[in-house]
Amino acid sequence: MRRMVLDGACRPLRLESRPAPPAPAPGQVLIRVAACGVCRTDLHVVDGELTRPKLPLIPGHEIVGRVAAIGGGVGHWALGDRVGVPWLGWTCGSCRQCRAGHENLCERARFTGYDIDGGYADYAIADARYCFALPAAYDDVAAAPLLCAGLIGYRALRFAGTAERLGLYGFGAAAHIAVQVARHRGQTIFAFTKPGDSAGQDFARSLGAAWAGGSDQLPPERLDAALIFAPVGALVPAALAATSPGGTVVCAGIHMSEIPAFPYALLWQERVVRSVANLTRQDGEEFLALAPQVPVRTTTEPFPLAEANTALDRLRRGEIEGAAVLVP
Ligand SMILES: [Zn+2]
Ligand SMILES: [Zn+2]
Repeated sequence: MRRMVLDGACRPLRLESRPAPPAPAPGQVLIRVAACGVCRTDLHVVDGELTRPKLPLIPGHEIVGRVAAIGGGVGHWALGDRVGVPWLGWTCGSCRQCRAGHENLCERARFTGYDIDGGYADYAIADARYCFALPAAYDDVAAAPLLCAGLIGYRALRFAGTAERLGLYGFGAAAHIAVQVARHRGQTIFAFTKPGDSAGQDFARSLGAAWAGGSDQLPPERLDAALIFAPVGALVPAALAATSPGGTVVCAGIHMSEIPAFPYALLWQERVVRSVANLTRQDGEEFLALAPQVPVRTTTEPFPLAEANTALDRLRRGEIEGAAVLVP
């Protein structure tokens, strides 16, 4: 089996060959990977902005594949079943957060492609309880971005409530799915890209955004809520300035550059700034049932597994329309 290995921050991934895939332990499944999405979080790991990955590490937490071996005690998957593996790889089930139903905030959570080897490989091991069944309407490559970009966007949308006018800052993999779900709910979307990114703005309008412009612009109407997907702290005061009294600004990324100081007047009048962290299995089940009803269509750019570094470079430079997906 081949695998792309991170030995340390700010180093390219190294292609490694192993004679055989690992064997699943009790409770685990071995998955023959068919596709693995490339998420911005992977970039934050490779670039050292998320500082505590296991090393060496196989990144990748949008894994689509088929069950190739089953460990002891796993009853609900059969050989050949198609499964999806998300970022949430394991939770303790007993800490205060888990007991309160917030497994996304588990104090001992372990994440795929960070604490656990992920899907930039021919095979991956996963805890069977954290794998999802995937809707049949999606082929393997099209399904991959649903598993993080789609899920995180879905969770972020929930915190935006019933906002009529919704801003999306950063129009990458997550926003290109969120815009479709939000339109399905009858929300009006205002998409913000890097200033001057007319291709990104065209892409946003093609997916149903009512308006698209640069993040340095104000939308034609005040927003009721805004989701920030770009890892840029300066977008927090920018989004607050575009948001109505009582509106919410949701930071949906796992990492963001420092938020600059801003006048209290931007927050005043009951505006809210909050973050969204990780996912629960319930989020996954809800979103994967909803996606084919919308129907969400994912825009993907496939790369061979061995070209993972190229995919990461292209994502870092903002050159991917939709989502990059590795295909072993
Ligand atoms: Zn826990
Ligand atoms: Zn992700």
